[in-house]
Amino acid sequence: MRQCLTSDLGGYYTSTALSPERDQFGAKGDFVTSPEISQIFGELLGLWVVAEWIAQGRKAEGVCLMEMGPGRGTLMDDMLRTIRTFPPLARALTAVHLIEASANLRATQHALLCGAANPLIETATGHESTSKYLPNVRIIWTEDLRSIPRESHQTLFIIAHEFFDALPIHVFQSVAPAPQPVSDSTIQTPTGPIPAPTPQRRLPQGNQWRELLISPTAPHRLSTGNPEFELTRAKSATPHAMYLPEISPRYQALKSTDGATIEISPESRAYAAEFAVRIAGSGPATPTPAQPRASTPGPTTRAPKSSQADPAFPKPAPSGAALIIDYGPPASIPTNSLRGIKAHARVSPFTSPGTTDVSADVDFLGLAEAALDASPSVEVHGPVEQARFLGAMGIEERAAQLVKRALDQERGGGGRGMGGEGEGKRERGELTEVVRRIEGSWKRLVDVGPQGMGRLYQVMAIVPFAPAAKGEVRRRPVGFGGDVKA
Ligand code: SAH
Repeated sequence: MRQCLTSDLGGYYTSTALSPERDQFGAKGDFVTSPEISQIFGELLGLWVVAEWIAQGRKAEGVCLMEMGPGRGTLMDDMLRTIRTFPPLARALTAVHLIEASANLRATQHALLCGAANPLIETATGHESTSKYLPNVRIIWTEDLRSIPRESHQTLFIIAHEFFDALPIHVFQSVAPAPQPVSDSTIQTPTGPIPAPTPQRRLPQGNQWRELLISPTAPHRLSTGNPEFELTRAKSATPHAMYLPEISPRYQALKSTDGATIEISPESRAYAAEFAVRIAGSGPATPTPAQPRASTPGPTTRAPKSSQADPAFPKPAPSGAALIIDYGPPASIPTNSLRGIKAHARVSPFTSPGTTDVSADVDFLGLAEAALDASPSVEVHGPVEQARFLGAMGIEERAAQLVKRALDQERGGGGRGMGGEGEGKRERGELTEVVRRIEGSWKRLVDVGPQGMGRLYQVMAIVPFAPAAKGEVRRRPVGFGGDVKA
């Protein structure tokens, strides 16, 4: 997956070989993502950040945004346009970090977010420019989150939309042990069979995890139309098979089930852990006034895992949040989900490597587990279905507002509010089309039919652990059962 998607030599996102203007997104490309369908998507995520920033005490400085895999930059553009309408947050915002592997997409993002007036400057860790909406906000690109230093006084809001599904997975299958050799067997020697000198050691009982690996198909199957690669089960335990399925009780519980197949993305887990640490620090739990460190055991008192190789990163006042939106089962471990997408159709992930998008379902509970293990001072909300999240965020009301504005414009009125750019007065025929498009697009995002985006996509948040004040219920972020606190 890594080579197919982000290799310098012909990766799906990184290659410029096919055509520098090649676009993966939109009707002419391979897939369409939510921010490309409706501006409301990015606006509501911007509002979510505003609501969290309010709930966490309206920090007046040191606020940063970060987006993982920003695609064309549309989502961040819609978010920043929204955040601009909240001046105290816009003033507190110092930087927007974009983690992007593709130079082509970086250029597209730069053009949209900064405009031609703000050049793209190369730096030691990547590139940099300035927001076209907010001149005090630096837009900073890197290919890897690890090249951005952790800062203990920073309030970081992280957005990952359709990012985790692009990260590599390992696939494991549980297999029953081979039949046991009888203990009084003989050994074949060049001079004939001899009895085994000692009773043969019995193999350990119980199932083993075997990794499913990508291998070229057998020569006789290399006829036209057949994929050139396939998944084959390793004949013995690979190093990954010996430790990855053992890192979580969720995987361990399936080990005894013959044929159980699980997908694990160690890189995804590492990112979720890193988000948690940047929000709330690692090491001992942060004491809070409502729950001192020595009180009853709970999420805040959990000892960090000894497997954590990183040095502790203390964050005296946890702040910020991560919002993860992607497709995958809400609770179970993904299985058989590796897929290829080309021209809006599902194809074999093994056809035309480098020109086919390859992705896999996201293991939301795996990400939650990694985040909770990495930082004792975070809590996780969700995953909830996208339809529910966007509904709670006010998608219908915002759509009605956009429709009303379009109709007002027809009557010659103005009122741009925080509306999209480039909207002028329109003719009647055009207008019906605009209204139809607004209506069609928001409904597509919350469609709860079996293949609808409202149901397939899940939303999960990592936020600082916030114990309930005496006699009150725990705070919930907006979109996850909570209200906006003014
Ligand atoms: N979030 C965007 C785009 C999703 S496509 C949207 O919703 O429209 C995936 C994005 O992640 C692309 O921008 C791709 O170039 C980037 N990407 C994929 N793998 C990456 C990796 N390993 N590191 C950094 N960026 C990556």
